[in-house]
Amino acid sequence: MKKHSRLAIPFVVVFALSCGSSGSNFNLISVEEEWQLGNQLAADVARQMPVERDAYITSLGQRLAAQTPMGNMPWNFYIVRNNEINAFAIPGGHVYIHTGLIKAADNASELAGVMAHEISHVVARHTTEQISRQYGLSVLAGVILGQNPAVYQQLLAQILAGGALARFSRAAEMEADNLGIRFMNQAGYNPDGMVTMFQKLLSRERSQPGTVEKFFSTHPLTADRIRDVQNEISKLPQKAARTDEPEFRTLKGRV
Ligand SMILES: [Zn+2]
Repeated sequence: MKKHSRLAIPFVVVFALSCGSSGSNFNLISVEEEWQLGNQLAADVARQMPVERDAYITSLGQRLAAQTPMGNMPWNFYIVRNNEINAFAIPGGHVYIHTGLIKAADNASELAGVMAHEISHVVARHTTEQISRQYGLSVLAGVILGQNPAVYQQLLAQILAGGALARFSRAAEMEADNLGIRFMNQAGYNPDGMVTMFQKLLSRERSQPGTVEKFFSTHPLTADRIRDVQNEISKLPQKAARTDEPEFRTLKGRV
């Protein structure tokens, strides 16, 4: 493990969270540089994808992000007008929720479960780790400095085509689940919402695979993984009670 001195406060905690899943040295890219790249990608995504802001999605996302070691960073949450069931996050704290996923969720804790999982990928820097594995650290550094427009366009095209930049490993998924249930629990949402949402996605994948294909291609989900989440929830000292809230019903009525 390499220490790095240029980084701001969240780094130490974030590094501790993410070092279990990686043997690469992607973390030589600072959180600030990563977030800068994310902002640029998000601006281009906003021009080419039907994204919009929503007060409730923003407030739910902020309540979850506030529980993380990156709570003081500028997070952004968006709805994507698309009926496929998908959600994704890109570096820099930009989290996207498809209207199809909002329709598939039956209560606020189910939506919170998916959002907490996506937020956790950002906090653990899984996408940056994956990009640096795929392209190499020097290429990624060049992209951040604006010196590699070809790879930048490739990353952007990948987001526009499938929503995400990475196909996460089983270990990254497990880490995002485990962090996610803690963040949602601390934010007051019953973590069982993540389990019931995942069960829904899994049964949908069996009955109508096309509608959840993109989510499954980046976040491999299995019955085993759901059992692991249940097991992690059983270790929580206390389980938050909130499963629903009126604002979720209003949002569902709108999408
Ligand atoms: Zn995931």
